[in-house]
Amino acid sequence: MHFTDLGIDTRLETQLAHQGITQPTDIQAHAVPTALAGHDIFAQSKTGSGKTLAFLLPAVQRVIKQKALSKRDPRVLIVAPTRELATQVFTQLRLLIAGTNIKAVKILGGENFNDQIKALRNDPHFVIATPGRLADHLTQRSLQLSGLELLIFDEADRILDLGFTEQLKMINDLADHRLRQTLLFSATLDHAQVDALSRNLLKKPKQIMLSAANEQHSDIKQSLYLADHLDHKEALLEHFVKQEDVGQCIIFTATRADTARLSELLNSKGLKAQALAGDLTQSKRLDIMDAFSRENFKILITTDVASRGLDLLSVTHVINFDLPKHAEEYVHRIGRTGRAGFKGTAISLVGPKDWPSYKAIKSFLNDELAFHTVEGLTGKFKGLRDKKPQVQNKVNDKVKPKAKAAPKRKAKPKKPQAPIKAPLNIDGDAPMRRRKKPEQE
Ligand code: AMP
Repeated sequence: MHFTDLGIDTRLETQLAHQGITQPTDIQAHAVPTALAGHDIFAQSKTGSGKTLAFLLPAVQRVIKQKALSKRDPRVLIVAPTRELATQVFTQLRLLIAGTNIKAVKILGGENFNDQIKALRNDPHFVIATPGRLADHLTQRSLQLSGLELLIFDEADRILDLGFTEQLKMINDLADHRLRQTLLFSATLDHAQVDALSRNLLKKPKQIMLSAANEQHSDIKQSLYLADHLDHKEALLEHFVKQEDVGQCIIFTATRADTARLSELLNSKGLKAQALAGDLTQSKRLDIMDAFSRENFKILITTDVASRGLDLLSVTHVINFDLPKHAEEYVHRIGRTGRAGFKGTAISLVGPKDWPSYKAIKSFLNDELAFHTVEGLTGKFKGLRDKKPQVQNKVNDKVKPKAKAAPKRKAKPKKPQAPIKAPLNIDGDAPMRRRKKPEQE
């Protein structure tokens, strides 16, 4: 199947071919024609399955082909929960619209507000934003949404989890007109969330559910290791990151302090690692992501701030130094590898403190998640006795049809060379003010 079979313009198809993208993934094959037909969409499909293009392609096509409702207001607004993810979407959009006169801006927290006002005065066709800063602009009326044609929420569940319900309502109210189309995407949406969002934001949506949130990812090999204490975890970590098959690696920790501590530790062992946490300035965050995407260093240590924003095909391993509190975040974290049809490995270290999270993830994934051992590094901890689970799953275990993995790109070398996919567009913004909460915004 070709993109033109889905109704996509040949110019866009050529643009994709330049990136080595020749065949639509499953989610694209389903979502693109549905969006082009003007339906609201509610879509769920695996991490790394090509969701971004599934909404960007019909959006760009609309801007190219259809007459605008308003000359001044943005035509397409894309809302993403984290700066990293918004930047990622922006980067893909820029590739798609290269050589056209389509204007796009990104409006993120932590960047210069006045510069954003100036960029918005330029009447962009696309605005890509994180919800907090977007709401600031709407309140100050530096952005109007009455002419908005297409409203897209990427990782909608995370936007809600971060507490942006009010901001969503505000966006919805300000762009509330009969002609607006709304698309909602995620890898992990639960049924209560779907109901609430559908009721409030979507009009007779078409549901495209290509995989259950808790379905095993066939391209990601998952293994778990029991750890007695911090020192034991650190010894295991050092062992794993030194393995030959590790290309680039992302390590997730529970706290910001741990990212810095582990970075120091690994660097002292001669391994090139950098910490990325939400308390860094936005330009520093972007610098680190940029350097990682260029493979200037091998190991990125981060918190859930980066669990949804990174799309690097060179990431061969994800290591959970600590398990995340919510089972859905586990799915997103490990989804930083095994993207676009490539294989990846996810390793999780489970100590006594991680046990409730382990139980929650295990029941969420409906799977045994076997433990493995490393010779010479086996500990005493064998798990805790069952008690009342402290961590709640948010997603029902409903079985959905299987999704196919993203087709491999043509002419891709066996060992993936990192195409520059991570945020690269720093745009010279100086950081203005840092929000205390939530960390991601
Ligand atoms: P996403 O799920 O949108 O983050 O995409 C994951 C990765 O798949 C990104 O690196 C995309 O560039 C890549 N990708 C998206 N669509 C395709 C496709 N049709 N063929 C090959 N790779 C794709």
